Amino acid sequence: MNIEEALSILKNAGYKYTDKREVILTYFLKEDRYRTAKDLLNYMKSHFSGISLDTIYRNLNLFHELGILECTELAGEKHYQISCADHHHHHFICRKCGVTQEIKCCPMNHLSKELDNFIIEDHKFEVYGLCPVCH
Ligand SMILES: [Zn+2]
Ligand SMILES: [Zn+2]
Ligand SMILES: [Zn+2]
Repeated sequence: MNIEEALSILKNAGYKYTDKREVILTYFLKEDRYRTAKDLLNYMKSHFSGISLDTIYRNLNLFHELGILECTELAGEKHYQISCADHHHHHFICRKCGVTQEIKCCPMNHLSKELDNFIIEDHKFEVYGLCPVCH
């Protein structure tokens, strides 16, 4: 996802493209890895003094609902990154720096026999560890 796509998703859902939202999106596009609300707050403080964690959470929730950000929980804390969503794939996620690596194979391809009589609605598959830079 790039900034134009994110902008059109916001517009189509009837939300305004504010300075704050632009800085949030720019941050996640630049970081290109999983970050927490606190990471974002630290960055936002340099642009908007007095910005609250509440504002950060509201925007993160909104972007997540709209599919602009994807969310995962690492060490009991929610982490967000810009959605890939161009095609179906999974991620390896570095526990230390939050960087992700695309995993092209989907384990669901091997499970069709085991779940023969079930209706599968969704699935989630993530691999956690340390990236080459962190280990
Ligand atoms: Zn991806
Ligand atoms: Zn790492
Ligand atoms: Zn899959």
